[in-house]
This record gives sequence, C-alpha cells and structure tokens, in this order.
Amino acid sequence: MSTLPPCPQCNSEYTYEDGTQLICPECAHEWSASGEAEAANDDVVKKDSVGNVLQDGDTVTVIKDLKVKGSSLVVKVGTKVKNIRLCDGDHDIDCKIDGIGAMKLKSEFVRKV
Ligand SMILES: [Zn+2]
Repeated sequence: MSTLPPCPQCNSEYTYEDGTQLICPECAHEWSASGEAEAANDDVVKKDSVGNVLQDGDTVTVIKDLKVKGSSLVVKVGTKVKNIRLCDGDHDIDCKIDGIGAMKLKSEFVRKV
C-alpha cells in the first residue's frame, strides 16, 4: 500500500493517483506528486528594497551608503552594480563593484535598475 500525501488545498486524505498527477476528489485539486519538494524550494525569491524580483545578471543600484567589512571603503548610495549573482545567506547578493572588488550585499539595500 502506498501512502499518498493529503490534498495541499483542503487536506483531504482521499487523494488518488492518475499517472504522475495526484487528484483530490473533494475539491478537484490536481498536482504533481514528483517534484513537490523541489518546487517548494524554488518559491524562495529574492526581492529588492521595493519588491522587484531579483535574478542573476541583474543590474542594481545601492540605496544607502554601505561600509565594506574590514576596510575603510564605503559603497556610496547610487552606486551601480552590474551582473549580480544571488546566493543564500544573510547577504544574499554576490557582486563585483568597480574600485572595491568582490563583495556581498543585502537585497534589501539595493534597487533593481
Ligand atoms: Zn482537496
């Protein structure tokens, strides 16, 4: 006996399989059994200070002066940062800034151009 997950929409236990789909007879919700976990991970989207979704390769500007850790350098407000790369963690943007070099930024302190 295989145990099927309950319906994500109404929590019904009477779900059944139809090929690769799972179907709920109570609310007629259909979803894919495989990849449910992966899809959940993809839901984590990074957003800038005003809610634009950020993607690898985007260009952003810095919205406040940011001190560079371990140096006296400051990334000035309005600094344009090209070709960002998203990563996990507290500082979720990997980038390279002219005159400063590789560093990490927080998505909440940038704005997509
Ligand atoms: Zn349901």
